[in-house]
Amino acid sequence: MRLSKMYIRTLREVPNEAEIPSHIWLLRAGMIRKLVSGVYGFMPLGLRAVRKIEEIVRQEMDAKGAQEILMSALQPAELWQESGRWYAYGPEMWRLKDRNERDFCLGPTHEEIFTDIVRSEVSSYRQLPLNLYQIQTKYRDEKRPRFGLMRSREFVMKDAYSFDRDWEGLDISYREMYDAYEKIFTRCGLTFRVVEADSGAIGGSVSHEFTALSDVGETEIAYCDNCDMAATTERAACVDDIPPQETELPMKKVATPGTKTIEEVSDFLNVDRKKTIKALLFKVFGETEEMSYYVAVFIRGDRELNMTKLINALDIPEHAIEFADENEMSAVTGCVGGFTGPVGIHDCKIVVDSELVEHKNLVAGACEIDHHIMNVNYNRDYKGDIVTDLKLIKAGDKCPVCGTPIKIARGIEVGQVFKLGTKYSESMGAYYKDENMEDKLILMGCYGIGITRTLAAIVEQHHDENGILWPMSVAPYHVIVTVVNVEDEVQKTMAESIYHELLSKGIETLIDDRKERPGVKFKDADILGIPVRITVGKKAAEGIVEYKLRKDKHHTEINGNEAAAIAAAYVDSELGR
Ligand code: ATP
Ligand code: MG
Repeated sequence: MRLSKMYIRTLREVPNEAEIPSHIWLLRAGMIRKLVSGVYGFMPLGLRAVRKIEEIVRQEMDAKGAQEILMSALQPAELWQESGRWYAYGPEMWRLKDRNERDFCLGPTHEEIFTDIVRSEVSSYRQLPLNLYQIQTKYRDEKRPRFGLMRSREFVMKDAYSFDRDWEGLDISYREMYDAYEKIFTRCGLTFRVVEADSGAIGGSVSHEFTALSDVGETEIAYCDNCDMAATTERAACVDDIPPQETELPMKKVATPGTKTIEEVSDFLNVDRKKTIKALLFKVFGETEEMSYYVAVFIRGDRELNMTKLINALDIPEHAIEFADENEMSAVTGCVGGFTGPVGIHDCKIVVDSELVEHKNLVAGACEIDHHIMNVNYNRDYKGDIVTDLKLIKAGDKCPVCGTPIKIARGIEVGQVFKLGTKYSESMGAYYKDENMEDKLILMGCYGIGITRTLAAIVEQHHDENGILWPMSVAPYHVIVTVVNVEDEVQKTMAESIYHELLSKGIETLIDDRKERPGVKFKDADILGIPVRITVGKKAAEGIVEYKLRKDKHHTEINGNEAAAIAAAYVDSELGR
């Protein structure tokens, strides 16, 4: 392809909206363009990189016997009502009506659609196992679309669904997909970590996330250097800190004027934060106002609440909970902003972190302005409607498996796999007949990869201060041949001959034959990140060209006649062909 003919415009300036390297470089390289918040279009080079990732995904999915189909983005509400997710999915779902007022959505995911297809077409155990996938555009009206392709409202996903006769079959299907994902992300050039994950709105029991390690990632990972434990911090279990036993002392109300925060009250009373109880107040919104209720959460003063654990404990959708309006909640429950404690609060669901049960003589709010109570004890003075681990794990906490201090890293979730079990086959009635002609529920798994987010993650891990450094496997082109001066016939002839030789060897090649200053061409080549650069300049007269890998600092001079063969051999070896 000739850059002189290509539809491309690189940007000299960093676009205002872009904060992180992948977003900046994809925009500056002219690979993506924004339409509105969270909605992007792909320009020629960006689209080629997307297609490369899709092809890797296809090859590895096909190698596992999965079969590609393509379902519509437009989905009828009825299927989501059957599974119960029309409500549970919440405001992230893009809903619309047709001219007859019938409800539809633009699919954020396709469990319902694939379950529907399979329930109507699979009847016998002989048709199972089955794994169907698609590469298709998804829609999620994200609360905070940001970072370009990383969290967008329209994005390309590969989603696969497995259908098995029993749990043993599902275990095998899951393992196969896990294996395919490791191959896919390795081929994409990503450094990643597989971690245990929460199954969230999708449902099911077992789940793993594939996270590309990156400081800009939104996923926090807790891992242990001493054992295999690795989980998202959302998911990671926390070990309760069990203090030495103490005898229970009588409760004592004390004046603590103006001490609204845990720091203030622990300083004022001169007690360790570990001896205090923190209160967090929420409202849970039901489908109707009568079904809504308040929640008071109590956790040790030095701990952070893990919202995912709370949502799971309450068994509610993520969108159904918000911090409570304290005045409103106060009228119903007797809580007092900054002075709420478990003693004296009423008419709300009380959720207590399991660690508090063993702790004696703690300081808690008195549900009275400017007052706290000392020596509060679980069981004697208050009880929880739910008692469970609600803690957010942090660096240095004990590993829940082996007790070693854990470490925290950040990553970008590029893929996730779930064992769904019978969640959808049960709610939507997907059965098969076994050998004895008995109806059995189909066991399902689902497996997603964010294709466009993977593209962003690759750039996040492969860039420098001058632009992108594409891994060969996903590079939009393998080689760029730069003609320093297109008016110079010798340079032009040599560059054209290298270009054509590369094309004939099956190497995807760009030739920069634009009438631009050399500085502009070199800058652009750096921004675009094509892995191999051959520069044809003044020394063409002596038969010499410059050869440079994008990732290297320095170039070497080589014979122009050999340039194409050297570049092609390098590309082929990188691609393993
Ligand atoms: P997140 O927690 O980041 O919102 P998710 O867990 O909701 O993602 P899944 O339902 O597991 O996402 O979707 C499968 C894959 O689709 C994710 O692993 C991710 O790579 C990609 N993905 C999800 N949401 C987005 C988005 N808003 N923009 C781009 N890619 C996304
Ligand atoms: Mg996910």
